[in-house]
Amino acid sequence: MSWIRPVLLRPRAGLLIVFAASIPVGAQIRKWTSPAESESSSLNPHTFTPYTIVSKEPVSSTSSIFTLRHNTARAEPDDLKDVWKKAVWSIQVKQPQLQIARAYTPLPPTTPAGSETEDDYGNLRLLIRKEHNGEVSTFLHRLPEGSAVEIRGPNIELEIPDDVREVVFLAGGTGIAPAMQVAHALAARPETRMHILWASRRKEDCMGAKSDSSDVIKPGRLSGWRSLFGLEEPVVIEDYRGEDTQPGRIVRELEALREQSKSSSGNGLSVDYFVDEEKSFIKPGHVSKLLQPATLQPRSLKGTRLLLVSGPEGFIEYWAGRKLWADGREVQGPLGGVLSQLDLKGWRVWKL
Ligand SMILES: Cc1cc2nc3c(=O)[nH]c(=O)nc-3n(C[C@H](O)[C@H](O)[C@H](O)COP(=O)(O)OP(=O)(O)OC[C@H]3O[C@@H](n4cnc5c(N)ncnc54)[C@H](O)[C@@H]3O)c2cc1C
Repeated sequence: MSWIRPVLLRPRAGLLIVFAASIPVGAQIRKWTSPAESESSSLNPHTFTPYTIVSKEPVSSTSSIFTLRHNTARAEPDDLKDVWKKAVWSIQVKQPQLQIARAYTPLPPTTPAGSETEDDYGNLRLLIRKEHNGEVSTFLHRLPEGSAVEIRGPNIELEIPDDVREVVFLAGGTGIAPAMQVAHALAARPETRMHILWASRRKEDCMGAKSDSSDVIKPGRLSGWRSLFGLEEPVVIEDYRGEDTQPGRIVRELEALREQSKSSSGNGLSVDYFVDEEKSFIKPGHVSKLLQPATLQPRSLKGTRLLLVSGPEGFIEYWAGRKLWADGREVQGPLGGVLSQLDLKGWRVWKL
């Protein structure tokens, strides 16, 4: 998802209607593209539906989790469960005065995959970062609890293949939301494995995080190593959990997803954290290490291996090259950036 590239009802120039990139969808999910099917649904991709902001929980100084509930409190139709199981998806929220809309990515239910309640599907939870001077995100952050908002969707950004075996997910900032959707979907699929590398701007975004990689080296040793050995690009994963630091909300949800993935498949999810303000960045070495045969799964297990990149435009461009616009749609564009320099060994790259 090129985070900053907006999805507009009526762009500032007033010319185009554009949608986020998507790929062909499967039979279950295709239902959502048919107006006839969607008219009875509380949430549909064709018309805006009224929702209420039932809670707004700050998770850092710039981001909050918004919980939205459909105005009739009717549970979402069963079809949305299929979307949760099979896809990375977004909805659009309208800014009514300006008649513009932006895409946001619902966070997965907090109850384990397979035991969700109707409430889990009836509520939509959005992690929204307040962009400086951003039209829609600032508007939403100003709204008090109890306010009405209008929503349409789902828009399918990626259908997760049935035969997926491994996923490496490079997430920048709120790009963690689609990573959590994938982790939720995979938690119910045995013999899958996922590794998330999450880069945040500030430490507060991932307070109390503890990276899963075994090569954890405390901050401080890095500078010593650099000066001693002149290492340009050490593979260093830092640990953001101090003695008494409580994990932040998103970190706790990632830890819960990790636990669910362990109990259901025995393979599971692992997460490593990086923080710009701590000068800790995802390096090509971190990624190429994960693409090595047998780092995640024995290669004897046939299936699709996905390398997903999601976050602000600059993040996607740095790792995988720009997405492009063609015929009024955002498309993948050629593979560029750092990933085009790595030996991808059959991994399929998708820019979200
Ligand atoms: C599929 C998809 C899913 C997404 N999911 C999420 C999500 O889960 N959470 C999330 O927080 N975001 C998500 N986004 C990003 C979101 O859609 C918005 O792009 C984001 O909230 C910013 O929108 P805005 O209207 O607030 O900012 P905009 O008004 O679009 O402005 C964006 C930035 O550009 C700057 N800007 C605007 N106009 C100009 C100009 N003329 N010159 C220079 N700078 C300018 C603004 O100051 C601001 O910093 C997603 C995007 C996509 C495409």
